[in-house]
Amino acid sequence: MLEQLKEDVFKANQRLVSSGLVVLTWGNASGFDPATGLVVIKPSGVDYDRMTAADMVVVDLDGKVVEGNLRPSSDTATHIAFYRNFAGVKGAVHTHSVEATAWAQACREIPAYGTTHADTFHGPVPLTRILTEQEVTEAYEANTGKVIVERFRDLEPLAVPGVLVAGHAPFTWGRDPQDAVDHAIALEAIAKMARLTEAVNAAKPAPGLVPYVGEKHYQRKHGKNAYYGQIR
Ligand SMILES: [Zn+2]
Repeated sequence: MLEQLKEDVFKANQRLVSSGLVVLTWGNASGFDPATGLVVIKPSGVDYDRMTAADMVVVDLDGKVVEGNLRPSSDTATHIAFYRNFAGVKGAVHTHSVEATAWAQACREIPAYGTTHADTFHGPVPLTRILTEQEVTEAYEANTGKVIVERFRDLEPLAVPGVLVAGHAPFTWGRDPQDAVDHAIALEAIAKMARLTEAVNAAKPAPGLVPYVGEKHYQRKHGKNAYYGQIR
């Protein structure tokens, strides 16, 4: 069942690795089929180089396995929260990509510092609250989904296609699994640019090269009496 979606979800998972967003097994992608109300998701803890499309697991919106021999991703309940609550969302991704995760760990939303950001995110990349101890104990993954949905009470998920979970890492989503991967890649680039923007802005101007040393280096290589390298 859902063979095409399994293929799409499998490829989305592979792309998380090839794009450098995921190392080891720290990530997962899923897809949603609204017609059947079923979710296709990566199996839990399986090496990416051994994984095939047939290993993708089909679950219903209660998280019950409908088809597949492997256990679904441990983050399945979080993905399900998106498909239950975010209209039009049919793909979701979770990574611990370094730059975006750094903002999540710093418990900071990512301000919109430029057009690269605005091309993908309508406004800052939001940050969730920290889960309570009770939320973690009773249903960690489902409640991670709950705090994300709560954060989007006044936001449009397809206009702001991702979030930072405080102290954890990013989740992104989209109109299909590949769209969700695109947003994960964009988020990582935006997070890096924002960090560098703040670093450049906070830094004092560097002292710069002494003019006569710069002149010496240019002239000894390119000047009339250049002596750098071998005589040709
Ligand atoms: Zn995680």
